[in-house]
Amino acid sequence: MKLLVTGGAGFIGSHFIRQMLREEHAVCCVDKLTYAADLQRLQDCREHPAFSFMQGDICDPAAMKEVFEDFQPEHVVNFAAQSHVDRSIADPLIFIPTNVEGVGVLLEQCRRQGVPFHQISTDEVYGPVSPAEEQGRSEQALLLPSNPYSASKASADLLALSYFRTYGLPVTITRSCNNFGQSQHREKLIPMVVYHALHGLTIPVYGDGQQRRCWISVQEHCRAVATVLERGRPGEIYNIAPQAELENLALIHRILDQLGGGHHLIRRVEDRLGHDRRYQIDAEKIHRKLGFQTKGDFEQELSRCIGWYAQQWRP
Ligand code: NAD
Repeated sequence: MKLLVTGGAGFIGSHFIRQMLREEHAVCCVDKLTYAADLQRLQDCREHPAFSFMQGDICDPAAMKEVFEDFQPEHVVNFAAQSHVDRSIADPLIFIPTNVEGVGVLLEQCRRQGVPFHQISTDEVYGPVSPAEEQGRSEQALLLPSNPYSASKASADLLALSYFRTYGLPVTITRSCNNFGQSQHREKLIPMVVYHALHGLTIPVYGDGQQRRCWISVQEHCRAVATVLERGRPGEIYNIAPQAELENLALIHRILDQLGGGHHLIRRVEDRLGHDRRYQIDAEKIHRKLGFQTKGDFEQELSRCIGWYAQQWRP
């Protein structure tokens, strides 16, 4: 299949492209190359005959029209986004163009050319779940996003679904929890902790550190997206099952244990504005309808990931 992958020079998109090339799909990656991009992540893919790259902004209709006409994609998978919650709290308006309007531009191109569209979304669109709740949010749950990032992602989901209902465009959406794996930007929790620990910098922890987050390895996330591209039903949303749930502070201690110390570097800082205590999704549907289940050992994969960052940054 010919896949147009937007935001492919980012963390998850680059892993997805590598997986798709291995499965013998042709991939055209479009990325604006913002601060969050790194072409090193695609270094090995650039040698591949079925891979092409174009620097472009998904908010630019003329550029997207050109890519669609040149590449003639059979499916579009949109990873492009402003993805860091803290940045959305500091500067909310920069999240609207890419996370909402850019999705609209891609949907419009897909509608004109009759190309199916897949949106990469997040568990954060459901908003917080209380610690006592055992049942996670299903795909039918109300969207109650708390911060500008998750609100922009929820907006994109609704826009995408409207293209299915109004125009019959084959649209699918996946919502996953926090991803971990190699080559994530250093602003994100796991690489930040490793980097700070190895450089003797203080490790900031928001509030009491007892916010709980679900985690999935980036490879498992990409495998779930591939399953939905292959077997998902148009117009449907699929939550992706997490591999583990951890308190942020417990995860930080777990990382420092593996690094052999640095616990004294932890500093409590004022909590993030509107900080959600916990997210939890019910991922029964992707399992029941598409037969997808995460595999792989969370502890082993987390250790491998921490080890990879430590190797990059150990002085
Ligand atoms: P990332 O920040 O690492 O990568 C985003 C990529 O999008 C970057 O390469 C950036 O240059 C590109 N981009 C930004 N604006 C663009 C534009 N206007 N046009 C073209 N390219 C643009 O993000 P990530 O962590 O890889 O996340 C990818 C997607 O997955 C996002 O949509 C995010 O909301 C979603 N998601 C991420 C996580 C996670 O834990 N990282 C969890 C759930 C969902």
